[in-house]
Amino acid sequence: MRLTVLGCAGSFPGPESACSAYLVEAEGFRLLIDFGSGSLSALQRYSDMNKIDAIILTHLHCDHMLDACTYIVVRRYDPSGSLPPVPVYAPLGAAERISAAYSQDNEPVDDVYTFYGLQPGTFPIGPFSITVDRVNHPIETYGVRIEHGGSVLAYSSDTAPCEPLLRLAAGADLFLCEASYLDGADNPPGLHLTGGEAGEAATKADVGRLLLTHLVPAWVSEASIVDAAVAAFAGPVEVVRPGARYDL
Ligand SMILES: [Zn+2]
Ligand SMILES: [Zn+2]
Repeated sequence: MRLTVLGCAGSFPGPESACSAYLVEAEGFRLLIDFGSGSLSALQRYSDMNKIDAIILTHLHCDHMLDACTYIVVRRYDPSGSLPPVPVYAPLGAAERISAAYSQDNEPVDDVYTFYGLQPGTFPIGPFSITVDRVNHPIETYGVRIEHGGSVLAYSSDTAPCEPLLRLAAGADLFLCEASYLDGADNPPGLHLTGGEAGEAATKADVGRLLLTHLVPAWVSEASIVDAAVAAFAGPVEVVRPGARYDL
């Protein structure tokens, strides 16, 4: 499978990146994981925006789902005619949330999306085996494990340290993990990981490679976060960039 980073800025778009959105492809199937603010722009740069086969929204914070509202126009009003509904796997309430953000009168969006409520477990999407579990964030949020052809990609979504994150990432070839906070700062509990905590999770889960994401460029030093992660994880570590592609 191939991972393409569309957006990786944490919490709000950065000067060089949209918010969280990741395209995962295998056997011609295109799975979009998260659809944060600004990422529809990047989707057009790095892919065909009409050809999305399924979407996972890990949680309903704006920086992970707001362009699912913008994308309604793309599918409903395509010049060649409406495009078929896309399956959306998301926490319960996603339909209402997207509808409310899209229109003042909460018009239905079921011509564009077919919604499936996420709950912890394993299920297929296209050629992928997907496992999701609740992670440690103030609203219902799912980390994701994607398996295909013997390879494993794990994605933390937004989370503070927790056991489900380690299970999802266990032995993963690529661990795409958030690192929003600086180590040693007075960070609020139950929200996000520091670089050091991302590195610790990578070590405990025995992953092959750690990809740091969801940094907030306006608020944190990237070098400090990377240094803390490297100190806690002996394997390869890098910060992802929009347009970066990883084959596994
Ligand atoms: Zn976020
Ligand atoms: Zn969040």
